[in-house]
Amino acid sequence: MLLKLVPRLVGEFEFEKPVWLDGFGNYNRMPTPSRKVDEGTFWYAFHCHPINYMEFRQVMDDPNGPSRSMYIFWGNDAGYAIEMPGKWTFTGDQPARYVDSVVYHLIGCEHDFEEVVDPANLPFMHSYKCCLCGHIHKSDSSD
Ligand SMILES: [Zn+2]
Repeated sequence: MLLKLVPRLVGEFEFEKPVWLDGFGNYNRMPTPSRKVDEGTFWYAFHCHPINYMEFRQVMDDPNGPSRSMYIFWGNDAGYAIEMPGKWTFTGDQPARYVDSVVYHLIGCEHDFEEVVDPANLPFMHSYKCCLCGHIHKSDSSD
């Protein structure tokens, strides 16, 4: 009876690992390309695309520091990583307090789009191709 009241941990659908993720390294590697961003930039990018897959990584290939634990949310053709703080303190019987801050990363190409002509498009459709990676984005300008 109680089980019926507990929400599912993964939302309304089951995650399946997208095939294109195979090019972003393994459990102990930081996916590339990636860049650190501020909190506002991260959350703006995060909410723009639905998430298709989530993973946990313990990144150990950073020459500037120790291993880092991070959750990566994958959606569209990008990743949104939240790096967990590495240092914390315990004070008496209080809960642990993190010393470091959360670090946010965006993973994937920083697209530079140009509009391209696609004969298959309907009049209200527009196609854009990234000059850096070739990714094509289509949008519908009708309302
Ligand atoms: Zn690109």
